[in-house]
Amino acid sequence: MSTTLPEIAPPKVRHTQLFIDGQWRDSASGKTFATINPATEEEIVQVAEGDKEDIDAAVKAARKAFESGPWRTMDARDRGRLMMKLADAIENEIDELAQLETLDNGKPLRESRHADLPLVIDALRYYAGYADKIQGETVPIRGNYLCYTRKEPVGVVGQIIPWNFPMLMVAWKWGPALATGCTIVMKPAEQTPLTCLRMAQLAKEVGFPDGVINVVPGFGPTAGGALVDHPGVDKIAFTGEHRTAQLIMKNSAQSLKRLTFELGGKSPNVIFSDADLDAAVQGSFVGLYLNQGQCCCAGSRVFVEESIHEAFVEKLTDLTNKRVVGNPFEHTTEQGPQIDQAQFDKIMSYIDKGNQQGASCVSGGKRSGDRGYFIEPTVFTDVQDDMAIARDEIFGPVMSVLSFKDSDDILKRANDTMFGLAAAVWTQDIKKAHHFAANVRAGTVWVNCYDVFDAAAPFGGFKMSGQGRELGTEGLKAYLESKTVTVAL
Ligand code: NAD
Repeated sequence: MSTTLPEIAPPKVRHTQLFIDGQWRDSASGKTFATINPATEEEIVQVAEGDKEDIDAAVKAARKAFESGPWRTMDARDRGRLMMKLADAIENEIDELAQLETLDNGKPLRESRHADLPLVIDALRYYAGYADKIQGETVPIRGNYLCYTRKEPVGVVGQIIPWNFPMLMVAWKWGPALATGCTIVMKPAEQTPLTCLRMAQLAKEVGFPDGVINVVPGFGPTAGGALVDHPGVDKIAFTGEHRTAQLIMKNSAQSLKRLTFELGGKSPNVIFSDADLDAAVQGSFVGLYLNQGQCCCAGSRVFVEESIHEAFVEKLTDLTNKRVVGNPFEHTTEQGPQIDQAQFDKIMSYIDKGNQQGASCVSGGKRSGDRGYFIEPTVFTDVQDDMAIARDEIFGPVMSVLSFKDSDDILKRANDTMFGLAAAVWTQDIKKAHHFAANVRAGTVWVNCYDVFDAAAPFGGFKMSGQGRELGTEGLKAYLESKTVTVAL
């Protein structure tokens, strides 16, 4: 564990204001807030704190851009070209953006550079290709009429995102919104506003018209709440916690906004005794510890068939004990800090609960170092289904390993959760794999793999893990209205 000076000098922070109607400006209140480097607990910079008045200005700009001006009249293919240019601009600046992401979020530079950023660019290009392929149908109705449908943008969209994959969440949200011709007011997470602001500037530089993209950093209940309440917003796309989603649903009922939610999970990862053990251990390890365990789809309930349980835990703890935790700017670092003090405290309290409720902590379990929000990769065995560590989303590097004997019972146990975001199964038996895939209640199922993402593959949750899907063609639907036109002939 080391938090000595980075090998790479921290990138320059170029934007700290609000981005509204193509202009950088201070917040109406003049207030700012600190964004913190989670590796050092030090302030990186002060960022303008948006609130109701700023959200109102951003929504008005987005409305104007939606209803008139060059965005409204632009050919769909040119809209796609602009998106391609934005992807190119991000690619040209890939190293600096990856560094900025690591500075603000704490994720290892090798991940932000080689995982997050390529996925960001890919998602924007994928959706750019859709811009001129969104089309309606002719409908054979009775009578002498021509009936057809038009697919139209839903309008001004409010997009509220979390801190765990800051740039990737921007790409997942901007991609379908821009491809369909919507305009955007985005509120990034208060912990990680910096890369989103940089992306706004790149969008301006490649030629997005003023008001198409607006970014208002600020806090959830104030800036986020104002966006949800605003009558000028047609749709809210939200990624975050289910409790926040419940509040958003309640508060947007008045204006019946369209809503999509990508929420949390407690995903089951089931390993049968006939699985390729090394692959299953490696996949389970990545499936939980990737991004410091701060993944909505983390495989945090690992069910291992009893006959291989001991071998699995031995191989797994071999990996966790070797994991390099420390300065995210160092090339060898595999795990950085948690995002902030609140998450750090929450995770440590779950480790305490695991110990108190009788689970066995066989690896990690402590803070790592004495500065920064670092936590050792932690493994609990002897976990029972009703323990807090097996039920609640911890959102940290804490794996619960549960054992199973009865393969008939495993689906019931896997499904015994309010969540349904992802699931995985490891087996060589094709029948077992498909039976599991068909019957597990989750939006994504990985068979003999984990965390395989692609812009073309829809992602989202069953039950309390969400509503609607992002990515793929399904991701476009949430940003479109269907209009039926009937013409007497
Ligand atoms: P959060 O709900 O607290 O915050 C997410 C965003 O919502 C932030 O921008 C925050 O400022 C804003 N917000 C908070 N209160 C608000 C309010 N009252 N009105 C409007 N906006 C408000 O969640 P978090 O702790 O920052 O993020 C972690 C959660 O996100 C986890 O549950 C995780 O599983 C989930 N997540 C899901 C996905 C997915 O795709 N399903 C992806 C990433 C994260």
